[in-house]
Amino acid sequence: MIPVEEALARVLALANTPGAETVALDRAAGRVMATPATARRDQPPFDAAAMDGYAAAEGTAFTVIGESRAGGAFAGRIGTGEAVRISTGAPVPAGATRVIMQEDVQRIGDRITVTGTSPGAHIRRRGQDFAAGHSLAPRRLRPADLALLAAMDVPQVEVLRRPTVALISTGDELVMPGDPARDDQIISSNGFALKAMVEAEGGTARMLPIAPDDEASLRLMLDMARDADVIVTIGGASVGDHDLVGRVLADVGMDLAFHKVAMRPGKPLMAGRIGNSTLLGLPGNPISAIVCGHLFLLPLLRRMQGLEPMAAIRQARLAAPLAANGPRAHYMRASLDGDTITAFDKQDSALLVALAEADALLIRPIGDPAREAGETVDYLPI
Ligand code: AMP
Ligand code: MG
Repeated sequence: MIPVEEALARVLALANTPGAETVALDRAAGRVMATPATARRDQPPFDAAAMDGYAAAEGTAFTVIGESRAGGAFAGRIGTGEAVRISTGAPVPAGATRVIMQEDVQRIGDRITVTGTSPGAHIRRRGQDFAAGHSLAPRRLRPADLALLAAMDVPQVEVLRRPTVALISTGDELVMPGDPARDDQIISSNGFALKAMVEAEGGTARMLPIAPDDEASLRLMLDMARDADVIVTIGGASVGDHDLVGRVLADVGMDLAFHKVAMRPGKPLMAGRIGNSTLLGLPGNPISAIVCGHLFLLPLLRRMQGLEPMAAIRQARLAAPLAANGPRAHYMRASLDGDTITAFDKQDSALLVALAEADALLIRPIGDPAREAGETVDYLPI
């Protein structure tokens, strides 16, 4: 049994990087850039008016000789005593040194007189936002990044291929929701949570058919999953008579990184490499599987995409005291209220209603002493 931190380090060491692909900018939201992007022009591309008003040089009275609008620049040059009507964002004509706000001007016919004194030239200088050659470093693309890339005149971006994850649920007792189920059967639920988690992290997930607890079925599913970047098995990971996963994986040549972690829920977790895929063997208990998904699968996917793998651990104050923790790190289902956290009374690893109500995993390190109400503890938002 190894500590969570060691297990995570070994999982992250199994990460490989998916290749890159080029996508149109309007398909790039949420994708992770594979290479930097470079601006192909200055922004703004010309000195632009920052206000509606009149472009002019120094002086207090001018003749208005034309107009500069957005998309319709004034072609000529402004001479002494001349001004051009200008709107916000329009090019400032040659010869002008400033934009006089329209509020600071009195206009009669084509003559203007400066009546106010708002300070500043009211000009956005060419390249003030960014210059041609400006580089945007690889990142997961948020809406503002897409606007920036568009303004940089970058119509396509090179992004990492989405990591592919194959999800294999194992167990003679499992049936899919909606399928006929006998009283002694269980509806397969874990795959749905894990698929959603993978997709929220930028991956694509494929739920394979349920593998019954026999070697041939499991081998068949592993074979069907072979092209995935990550293969996740669910269930059959402990050492019961019907827990085949470890045995079959060893038979088909998995290079095991570890089996069993000092945590609860989730102790029977295993990880390794099989062919070109990273394998995570999750316990079947719904809470164990989903907690292990948060603690190991999502960090793995982030690392594969070149992102910071660790979700931010936050702090909150205990609403009620907690007993001392034992020799395994405990990830307690808990709810948050402002900066106060309450661990649920029932922590059984089969209680899905409690997990669905939880918005945090309260983290108890190995051997954490008893805690009083009001003490600060760590948690992972979920
Ligand atoms: P196992 O790890 O195979 O011993 O499974 C532990 C418990 O989790 C058993 O009660 C299983 O029925 C249940 N279980 C296993 N896989 C799933 C699944 N995909 N969805 C829901 N429950 C499961
Ligand atoms: Mg099982």
